[in-house]
Amino acid sequence: MKTLAILGSTGSIGRQTLQVVESMPEKFRVVALAAGANLEELAGQIARHRPQLVSVADAAKAAELLERLTQAANGAGLPEIEHGREGLLSVATHPEADTVVSAAVGVVGLEATYAAVKAGKRVALSNKEVLVAAGELVMAAAKAKGVELLPVDSEHNAIHQCLRAGRASEVRRLILTASGGPFRRTPLAQMAQATPEQALAHPNWRMGKRITIDSATLVNKGFEVIEARWLFGVEPKQIEVVIHPQSTIHSMVEYVDGSILAQLGPTDMRMPIRYALTYPEREGSNGVELNWDALRRLDFEKVPPRKFPCLRLARRALEEGGAQTCALNAADEIAVEAFLERRLPFSGIARVIEGVLDEMPKVALGSIDDVLAADGEARRLARLEVESVAESSEKTSVRVSEIDRVQ
Ligand code: NDP
Repeated sequence: MKTLAILGSTGSIGRQTLQVVESMPEKFRVVALAAGANLEELAGQIARHRPQLVSVADAAKAAELLERLTQAANGAGLPEIEHGREGLLSVATHPEADTVVSAAVGVVGLEATYAAVKAGKRVALSNKEVLVAAGELVMAAAKAKGVELLPVDSEHNAIHQCLRAGRASEVRRLILTASGGPFRRTPLAQMAQATPEQALAHPNWRMGKRITIDSATLVNKGFEVIEARWLFGVEPKQIEVVIHPQSTIHSMVEYVDGSILAQLGPTDMRMPIRYALTYPEREGSNGVELNWDALRRLDFEKVPPRKFPCLRLARRALEEGGAQTCALNAADEIAVEAFLERRLPFSGIARVIEGVLDEMPKVALGSIDDVLAADGEARRLARLEVESVAESSEKTSVRVSEIDRVQ
C-alpha cells in the first residue's frame, strides 16, 4: 500500500487525485492533506480519508476548520491542523508519506515540494511552477537523493511513457502538443481585448483558473518547455511545440532513426494521475476511454508567433537562465491576477512579462532562498509593470474611442 500526502488537495488536480485514490482503496492511504481556503471541500475530504495531518492557508482558516470539524466530529478523532508555510512543509515531509502529490498552484508549493524531494519522497508532480522557478535546483536535489519525479502534467506524462521505448541517447526531439486554447481562431486584434470569461472558456480541458488563462496565452506551453528541459534533461532546442486542436495526442518523442512515438488518450487528467501514482505498474482505468467513433481527424498546425508572444518569452527566459524563468512565472502570476480582476487587458499579460524579463537582474540561483528572493523581486517589478501597462492601455482606448466619436 502506498501512503500519500497531497499538496493542493482541494484543487482540480487534488480532487481528481482523490477520485483515483477512492477508485483503488486497497492501493493507497492518505496521511496528510494541504489546501488553501476551501474548507467545505477539505472537510469532506477529511471525513472520507481521515488523514493524520491537514494544513490550510493561514491561522484564521485553521481556527475555522477546527471549529467546523469539532462540531461535526461527535467525539471522533480530529487530525492535527497546521497552517501556512510551516504547515505545507509538514505535510510534504510527513514521516508516514512515501509519495507526495504536488498539486498546489503557483510558487506557494515550491518550498514544500523541494522539502519532499530532500526528504527522499517520491513526487507526483503537477505543480509545474516548481520546475519553471527552480528546475535546476530541484532536479539536482532529486538526483542526489535518488528521488523519482513522476510527471502528472499530461504532456510530460505522455513523454515519460514514450521514453520507455528507447534510450535517452536515442532521443532526437520531444514534441509537445498544444490545443491552441480558446483563441486559436480568434484574430489578433480581437484577442487583445478578450475578457476573462472568453479566456477561461478552454475548448478541451476543465482546469484551475491560472492554468486556463496560461493556456489561452500559451505561456503554459512555454512553462512546459522549461519543465520538459529539466525533467528529461534535454536541450531547449530539442523541444518543439505543435498545435494539435483535438488534444488527443498528449505529446510525442522522436528518436534518432526518425521514428516518432505518440501517446494518445481521452482528455481526462485522472489518467496521468493514475499513471504517476501506480508507476511502474499499470492499473485498471477509471472507466475513461477514447471514443474512436467521435474521433474523425487529428490536425496539426504551427504556433503563430505574433499571436502567442508568451511562448517566445518563455524560451527567451530559458535561454537566459538564472533567475529569468523564476521571473517569468512570477510576472505571469501577477499579470494573470490583474487580468482576471479586469485591471489589465489580455494583451497586457505578455507586455508585463517582457517588461519584467528586461528589468530583472541577471543572477544565478544557488538555493531555494535565492529563488524565493528572485520571486519576490520579480513580483515587485511585475506590479509596477501592471500599473504602467494598464495606464498606457487606458490612454490608447480613450484615444481610440475619441477617434470613433470624431468618425
Ligand atoms: P486549482 O486552482 O484548481 O487548485 C490549486 C490548489 O492549490 C487548491 O487546492 C488550493 O487550495 C491550493 N492552494 C492555493 N493557495 C494555497 C496556499 N497558500 N497553501 C496551500 N494550498 C494552496 O489548480 P489546478 O489543480 O488546476 O492546478 C494545480 C497545479 O497543477 C498547477 O501548477 C497547474 O499548472 C498544474 N496542472 C493542472 C492541470 C489541470 O488539469 N488542472 C493540468 C496540468 C498541470 P484552495 O482551493 O483550498 O484555496
